Amino acid sequence: MNQLRKFMYGRHGFDQFSQFILWVAIILTLISSFTRLDFLNILAYLLIIFAGYRVFSKNTKQRIRENYKYVSVINGIKGKFGKIKRTISGTKTHKYYLCPKCKQTIRVPKGKGKICITCPKCKTEFTKRT
Ligand SMILES: [Zn+2]
Repeated sequence: MNQLRKFMYGRHGFDQFSQFILWVAIILTLISSFTRLDFLNILAYLLIIFAGYRVFSKNTKQRIRENYKYVSVINGIKGKFGKIKRTISGTKTHKYYLCPKCKQTIRVPKGKGKICITCPKCKTEFTKRT
């Protein structure tokens, strides 16, 4: 254990991005075993080598930058999905309108009859039935 720690000293180690690369490699291996697409297997090996290179890399600054990029992309995707989910789950109690001027999405409660909506972004007023 001590030797491993000595070996890993100054090296980047396992991070989310390496984990993701390994998962992709595993999935590619599975797909290639079902479909006999051998190039996927080769690609999986290359990915494993790449993940290994990142784990043992001594250029930690560069690796941290890569991981940061990966995490921000993932968080961006998660944020988008969250927004879609909120839009779907909110349709029972709320209605969504687009501002005619700046295209901002505006959420208004349902069942209020004809109401005047003011865009929070550009202050444009428009009337809609909810
Ligand atoms: Zn607007």
